Amino acid sequence: MPPQRFCLGSQVSMVFNELRKDYLLNRWVVIAAERSRRPTDFAKPRTESVQKTVCPLCPGNEHLTPPAVMLYLRSDGEIVKDKDTVKLRHKNWLIRSVPNLYPAFAPPKSQTDTEQIMKSDNFGFAVGNHEVLVESPNHDEDPADAELSQLIHLVNGYIDRLRDLKVETYVKYVSIFRNYGKEAGASLTHAHSQIITTPIVPRTICEELSAAKDFWKKHRKCIFCNILENESKSPRLIYENSNFVVFSPYASINPMEFWIFPKKHNSNLLSLSNTEIESFAKTLKTSLKGLKDLVNDPPYNYGFHLSIDNNTQEYYHWHLEVYPQLSIWAGFEKNTGMHINTIMPETAASELKKTLQP
Ligand SMILES: [Zn+2]
Ligand SMILES: [Zn+2]
Ligand SMILES: [Zn+2]
Repeated sequence: MPPQRFCLGSQVSMVFNELRKDYLLNRWVVIAAERSRRPTDFAKPRTESVQKTVCPLCPGNEHLTPPAVMLYLRSDGEIVKDKDTVKLRHKNWLIRSVPNLYPAFAPPKSQTDTEQIMKSDNFGFAVGNHEVLVESPNHDEDPADAELSQLIHLVNGYIDRLRDLKVETYVKYVSIFRNYGKEAGASLTHAHSQIITTPIVPRTICEELSAAKDFWKKHRKCIFCNILENESKSPRLIYENSNFVVFSPYASINPMEFWIFPKKHNSNLLSLSNTEIESFAKTLKTSLKGLKDLVNDPPYNYGFHLSIDNNTQEYYHWHLEVYPQLSIWAGFEKNTGMHINTIMPETAASELKKTLQP
């Protein structure tokens, strides 16, 4: 329940806001929802600027990016996987993944670069990969409105890049994410995702892995399977089909946050069947379209949490987390790492549920 105020004579007392802790992380959020506040109150006029300069990701401008490390082409009715060379930039691609011109993590130039990446406990080199996955030849084909067939190419693209990158000895994690809208960090408006590989496992994943491992040791059960079971019966459930469940997490730190969980236990996406890939593409489209319709096409980030370490297969369970960008993390959040969310996850879920059109 949202906080309620009661007048007791001249004294004003108040039922407290809720403090909620994440399922796995040592992370707390204050659910400070004002009763009158609805998700639609967060809708802002779209400020998205149109691409003013030439879009380097649009067809015809392939020479403006480094050669694609992977692309899909249609050939004789089949989808074939290929790559560019310095001399040859393929045209008529369906998706293409290109190295970022200004990479946060850069590939090793020689074998020795991969041998000792971390020089000490607190110093190392940012060796890795940083790619921009162009999701469609159509500039505006973002997942909420994309053709399902195109979204299936995108999900297959994620899986192909994950498969190829995870085998590199210098890769300890593969982060696959999407920034949508300027406020969420997208500097290009063309529909794209990003893939970054890191030579260490990032903190959030480490914490999830270690909490999941502890739970496994105690209960011989996957904590994510447990969450799935509970949330599919909770007021935070948004959408469910035979392969996936979408829900607002109990301790959401972002207003309107939702997560997509596969029902089949697996630590990453590599063993998804074609049916599951199609089902995931549908689930992604349905939930992002719901968000777009409900809150006037807000900026957002999404990212996969997965594990590429085979030893974690029993207890880790991949998922996608979607973070709408509807509030600004200010002094308290930056100062403490504790968050304030002004929309009840239960309200977020019921409003999204009403808006979805599966
Ligand atoms: Zn474009
Ligand atoms: Zn599981
Ligand atoms: Zn997660």
